[in-house]
Amino acid sequence: MRTLETLNFDNTYTRLPEVFFERVTPTGFQTSHLVSFNPSAAALIDLDPDEAKRPEFHQAMGGKLLLPGSEPIAMLYAGHQFGHYVSPLGDGRAILLGEVRNSRGETWDLHLKGAGLTRFSRDGDGRAVLRSTIREYLCGEAMHGLGIQTTRSLCLIGSDEAVLRESVETGAMLVRMAPSHVRFGTFEVFFYRRQHDHLKTLADYVLAGHFPHLVDGPEPYARFLREVAERTGRLIAQWQAVGWAHGVMNTDNMSILGLTLDYGPYGFMDDFNPGFIPNHSDHRGRYSFQNQPDIGYWNVRAIAQALSPLVEEADVLGAPEIYEATMQQTYTDLMQAKLGLKEARDGDDKLRRDLLALMHSNHVDYTNFFRALGFFNQDPSANEHLRDRFLDREGFDWWADRYRARLKAERSVDVERKARMDACNPKYVLRNYLVQVAIERATRHRDYSEIDRLRELLCRPFDDQPEMNEYAAPPPDWGKQIVVSCSS
Ligand code: AMP
Ligand code: MG
Repeated sequence: MRTLETLNFDNTYTRLPEVFFERVTPTGFQTSHLVSFNPSAAALIDLDPDEAKRPEFHQAMGGKLLLPGSEPIAMLYAGHQFGHYVSPLGDGRAILLGEVRNSRGETWDLHLKGAGLTRFSRDGDGRAVLRSTIREYLCGEAMHGLGIQTTRSLCLIGSDEAVLRESVETGAMLVRMAPSHVRFGTFEVFFYRRQHDHLKTLADYVLAGHFPHLVDGPEPYARFLREVAERTGRLIAQWQAVGWAHGVMNTDNMSILGLTLDYGPYGFMDDFNPGFIPNHSDHRGRYSFQNQPDIGYWNVRAIAQALSPLVEEADVLGAPEIYEATMQQTYTDLMQAKLGLKEARDGDDKLRRDLLALMHSNHVDYTNFFRALGFFNQDPSANEHLRDRFLDREGFDWWADRYRARLKAERSVDVERKARMDACNPKYVLRNYLVQVAIERATRHRDYSEIDRLRELLCRPFDDQPEMNEYAAPPPDWGKQIVVSCSS
């Protein structure tokens, strides 16, 4: 176990050409305190959880105290925002403190979000507010609990500093971790500046650190691009299967490692609604739930274009197709598993689509329905609990008869199927109203207990946790109307 002083930061990114980043000193808060600490992320860097009790901990994680070996930088990147190329963007309020190599040889970036102005801050103030850092902190861990690739959350630091958004809020910092924070937009910036030597340097850096299996083989860049396309396809299929929308799928928010990155106005759906738009400012629904697979394709085209100086044209053109095939196959597999089907048969797509259409028109809760479907009984009289979720009872009966026949065709055994379904249909997800309760308690009363309760609940979303049953409830009326904007 390590202490703060023996984390032994390295910072390989600083050995890249100076144009890749800006050296910065984080701007700590006048006064700060620990809001929440996540021991399971700390374990990834071998950090002794008792270290969180030291005053030096919130000072170091709040940017006031530099730890040995840390060379803080803000990374340069660009990106397509809502379809338009914007350059440069870069870390306008996040600072890479350095990398920690754990005892298993993995390296983890420690990235401090809300740490003050950098050269890339543009009109921003370099800060993040407690509300938005709680949202990112919890969702990173909730996604991890669901088995979805994501940045992880180490801790949240609170302050007394006023930060102006639509109203006055308090500033906070989030320390998040990832093997790398390189984005599609990190490549794009060098492509559009026609700095192809830098593009190659970046590709070599990313390959050496994160795709070592490709380094010595043939066509390393083409295979890299293919793998990025596949990882992105898998990621977005997982989002679709779990009913989650990112909200701002700009290419600067797309991780080159296929991680869920930059949690802003995201949302888990309550009632199934393909047109779900979590971001109140996304008036045209570019990043609606149902558009995510297509936006993934668009974004993979953007990274392929950015890598075009390093790969053949056929690879540039092929990458989105690889994405599409991976995304489709992964989504199909995940939905088959959600339905408890072991085999793939003709008609399964239609069975699934008909269910989703029924759920949509009947305003059925996505998470809860799939969890409850695990109790489906092949005795037709025993499914009232499912039937009652639909206003259109006959519509459900029509679907249930076909589902029953389909289960019979693969000799499905009810109890066995339920166990499989419970392992892939979560009981608990980070519904907007749940995170809102945690935010209100934290911002109004400095009561941070709900943050930890949710974090602990959501690291085991597939387990029945009977004492936490109320957290599986669909939103109360007030919880359906929460507006989430880009402001953070
Ligand atoms: P985001 O919408 O959070 O993905 O951010 C897009 C870009 O705006 C990135 O370059 C961010 O670093 C920058 N940005 C967002 N909020 C702020 C802020 N409060 N201060 C400075 N830069 C910001
Ligand atoms: Mg971002």
